[in-house]
Amino acid sequence: MVKHPKGPEIDLAEFFADSQNLRCCVYCRLFQPRSMFNRDHIFQQQICGWDHEFHVDCVCTHCNGAMNEAFENEIANDSIEAYLRYTNRIKTPASGKVLGRRVRLRMGKDTPYPGMLLEALPKPGLAMRPMLQVETRHRDTGDVCYYTEGDFFKLGDDDLKSREIHVIEPEGKSATRLRARVMERIPSYQPSKGQAVTVRVPKDIAMLVTIDPAAARFYCKIAVNYAAKIMGRDFVLAAGLNRIRDFVRYGNGQLTDFVVRIDQEPLLLEEKGTPRRARGLHLVTLQWDGVPGGYWLHAKVKPFNETCYHVQLCKTAQPTAIALSGHGVNWKEQLVFPLEMLPSSAPTNLAP
Ligand SMILES: [Zn+2]
Repeated sequence: MVKHPKGPEIDLAEFFADSQNLRCCVYCRLFQPRSMFNRDHIFQQQICGWDHEFHVDCVCTHCNGAMNEAFENEIANDSIEAYLRYTNRIKTPASGKVLGRRVRLRMGKDTPYPGMLLEALPKPGLAMRPMLQVETRHRDTGDVCYYTEGDFFKLGDDDLKSREIHVIEPEGKSATRLRARVMERIPSYQPSKGQAVTVRVPKDIAMLVTIDPAAARFYCKIAVNYAAKIMGRDFVLAAGLNRIRDFVRYGNGQLTDFVVRIDQEPLLLEEKGTPRRARGLHLVTLQWDGVPGGYWLHAKVKPFNETCYHVQLCKTAQPTAIALSGHGVNWKEQLVFPLEMLPSSAPTNLAP
């Protein structure tokens, strides 16, 4: 046993034995001793509520910690999933808002105020309310858009031509300062009194979700870790996955290159064609999809079986044999189980 003057005791024999068995991290691609790797959960513990067995061991402690700090902790507190942690009682509501900075929530198409920006208040009673925002309405077409304060002041003069401007003041929040700023920008703007909007937000509201790069990295990491679990570490270490690896680990690249679609597509057979949705599940699937000239590896990540994030892991001319896989995590009963995949979603056009 050797004692470093300022460090912990290191058993050198054990260290060298360990280093014979170096392992490559799927994010930084550095070879390191096995002791530098710990469990990295596929669905983060923050959204599962228990230390489950659905994890990989190919992420080094350094990357694991860095990603936790860079986006995982934040997203676990500011995403639609953060909100669902409260409604599903995985976490008890804390003070402060849980949505609005990283993830944009808007009212869906078939609601009284399509496109209106929403925020969730964890207390009291997990209410959704409109954010403080600016509404612009086209005088001729009636077309309505909603902007956060920051986005509104980025608009050009052309964007505001022929538009009526309203400041939406949610209950319990003052819009005085925002109105004054709007008046400064648009001298013709006449703030009228009583613009506070009482909007009842239905419980099962159809929401439009848009995400920022940090949130995209959160969902892409679930996809990359799942690919490592199913296809193996060597598959994920291949050069074809360098772009998504760099995006998840360092934030390099455009989020739309990786999260290619966000929707509410049902993934379970019993949910096809019915509005009923199995509760208490996180779902993830992996498949090759044919496109002109090749295939793309398509992961569907669906935490809380709510919003489905479609992640493009890589493109290739020739896919590997492992083509179709899915898993569910039942956090209510603390079970992890493979999904029976729909034959219809199997790639029917695998190369000969
Ligand atoms: Zn690493």
